Amino acid sequence: MSDLTHTHFIPYGRQDISEADVEAVVEVLRSDLITQGLAVPQFEQAVVDYCGAHHGVATSSATAALHVACAALDLGPGDWLWTSPNTFVASANAARYCGASVDFVDIDSRTYNMSVEALAEKLAVAEHEGKLPKIVMPVHFGGQSCDMAAIHRLSERYGFCIIEDASHAIGGRYQDKPVGNCRYSHVAVFSFHPVKIITTGEGGMAVTNDAELAGRMSRLRSHGITRDPALMVGDPDGPWDYQQIELGSHYRMTDIQAALGLSQMQRLDEFVTNRRAIAAHYDEELAFLPVTTPHQRSDQRSAYHLYPIQVGDATTRREVFQSLRDAGIGVNVHYIPVHTQPDYEQFGFGWGDYPEAEAFYRRAISLPMFPRLSGGEQQHVIAEIGRVLE
Ligand SMILES: *Cc1c(COP(=O)(O)O)cnc(C)c1O
Repeated sequence: MSDLTHTHFIPYGRQDISEADVEAVVEVLRSDLITQGLAVPQFEQAVVDYCGAHHGVATSSATAALHVACAALDLGPGDWLWTSPNTFVASANAARYCGASVDFVDIDSRTYNMSVEALAEKLAVAEHEGKLPKIVMPVHFGGQSCDMAAIHRLSERYGFCIIEDASHAIGGRYQDKPVGNCRYSHVAVFSFHPVKIITTGEGGMAVTNDAELAGRMSRLRSHGITRDPALMVGDPDGPWDYQQIELGSHYRMTDIQAALGLSQMQRLDEFVTNRRAIAAHYDEELAFLPVTTPHQRSDQRSAYHLYPIQVGDATTRREVFQSLRDAGIGVNVHYIPVHTQPDYEQFGFGWGDYPEAEAFYRRAISLPMFPRLSGGEQQHVIAEIGRVLE
């Protein structure tokens, strides 16, 4: 079977670009406006319509969206943001861009998401010490939503804001509603990097139900400039007038990117359906092997950005990882706990601080997971895992 004699490299994730996607981009390239035309607001509308939020602010990356979300919630020096150690560094860095301090809440050993019990315990201690966070940023690891209702209940008691890092989770559902509806949060952020669920090349979006917050995030995306007379200091000098009323960044998305995103939105459900079918097949086949497959809560419908398995111990992980790479399978590891990064040492963090996230990391391998992963490729991955663990 040629299917089982792969000579090509199977990545862990990759974009799915159709001819319609290409045409949508080319159409913008042939138009008058390749940036700040109609495609960005159309893409924002398509995303908020899909997830049931009211406002969308498209940005040059999810990192940029996390930054403007933190800034729009007035995060600054002296404030704390808490997030999960089991995430990409961008989640935590967003707070540091604002001059705020970062702390972490350990993960649940089954879902690998922020543990609600650990959060509740840490909040009780922080209240005692007068160090409550201004923002808590749960991360929907792998595409499965955190327990947002429970985190929201804690926010009512302790008065923090919630930004969902939903970079992995567009197209996923929680309590039978789309992730990103912001019922339990101030802002949710999506990433459109090519390995994520839909892509704009590079790109991200912050969605919210709060009009004022949306306005501020959109202003912070573009230098802190406003053209709204109501927000200006004094009367406008003329119809040309704009004012910088606070310091923002240049984080805008181009129409070229937004056209790709808008076109990709049409296949979002198809992408997630394919990812879920691939996950179901992994679940079935790997059940016979000594690996832990990702646990799914019953109130969730994961978008399956990742398919993380856990194997034996740290030594087994190293062997399995290397053997799969040698067999042309682009396995990866998500995530090296953020608090163990050298740049976080200066804040006093180190190995041992978040045992669950570290234990997960040591045994984790992310298997190839993308909509066009073929049946043959998936069989090859499963067969190789079986061979190595034999
Ligand atoms: C990819 C990712 C980001 C950053 O996304 P960019 O669009 O590359 O800036 C942030 N958080 C998480 C959890 C991610 O996976």
